[in-house]
Amino acid sequence: MSSAASAAEGVDRPAAGAEVTRLDPVGGSSGHGPALTGPALTDLALARGELDRSSYLRPNDTWLAQAWADPQTRVVVAEHGCALCAIDDEPASLLFVSPSQAPEGVRFLLGVDELSTAYFGVAGPLPAPAHGGVRAVPLREAGPLLSDRDAGLMTEAVALANWHETFTHCPRCGSPTVPFAAGHARRCPADASEHFPRVDPAMIVLVTDADDRALLARNAMWPERRVSILAGFVEAGESAEAAVAREVQEETGITVGAVTYLGSQPWPMPQSLMLGFRAAATRTEITVDADEIVEAHWYSRDELRDAVAGGNLRLPPPVSIAHRIIQSWYGSELPGSW
Ligand SMILES: [Zn+2]
Repeated sequence: MSSAASAAEGVDRPAAGAEVTRLDPVGGSSGHGPALTGPALTDLALARGELDRSSYLRPNDTWLAQAWADPQTRVVVAEHGCALCAIDDEPASLLFVSPSQAPEGVRFLLGVDELSTAYFGVAGPLPAPAHGGVRAVPLREAGPLLSDRDAGLMTEAVALANWHETFTHCPRCGSPTVPFAAGHARRCPADASEHFPRVDPAMIVLVTDADDRALLARNAMWPERRVSILAGFVEAGESAEAAVAREVQEETGITVGAVTYLGSQPWPMPQSLMLGFRAAATRTEITVDADEIVEAHWYSRDELRDAVAGGNLRLPPPVSIAHRIIQSWYGSELPGSW
């Protein structure tokens, strides 16, 4: 299953707001192709959350009630992957409402800032925009423009709202479940089973050959000229590294040796966590599966630049980890994106 980037950037889903843990790629090529060392990915658009999630407060009903009664408390309303933002302002900002202005809906604690201001999310209908510059904006569009704090808040709010909107019943007995732990879990009143936000891990990988050319592919669902690197969901009982090797082989016939982890980004559209990798090809002949991938080619940096400049290739947008991984290989700002 899976594939390049459609459902999630190739796959789509979340682990909201957490900062990227900086990992130094181990690099190395096992003798196949060039070494894969390079800078780890930092400051990914949707992985910049800086608010303390204050998870220790989630079981404290007294504190939660006091915080909700405080007019200084800020609430992010999320619905269908969107929140209200002043997106055209400089800088762009996320719109907060007070608890009394928040709509009915599942409530969840997002965190507490250094001034002890509490932030909640509510999964419910978006309030009417306060003024002309405010509108409902999808996370994919707002994420790169918001501050670190706001991007993290919106990512966490959208991820939790998506979960509450979707996972409403007990998978064991079918009873409606009830939120608890400040909206970070749900419990079945019939059998007491507890359920937690679902996150689907997906790998995304830049494959290079012995000449350090990059493999770019077009998903069957994409228009002509749009390409990205390969992506796919990690299957049950499978490591992320094994998923890299399997997906690359299934979709393009290419086999890979060394696999290097680069970083991760939540992609709550609706519930993915993208795990970024580079991999060295050990067999470079391309045979696309023609199901998920309809074409794939090797590109040198010069070929990539010329293809984009000539309008023959469109690369993923900066919000995506795919863009950042391709850029880390390319060595400078990419010449364009879709
Ligand atoms: Zn149940």
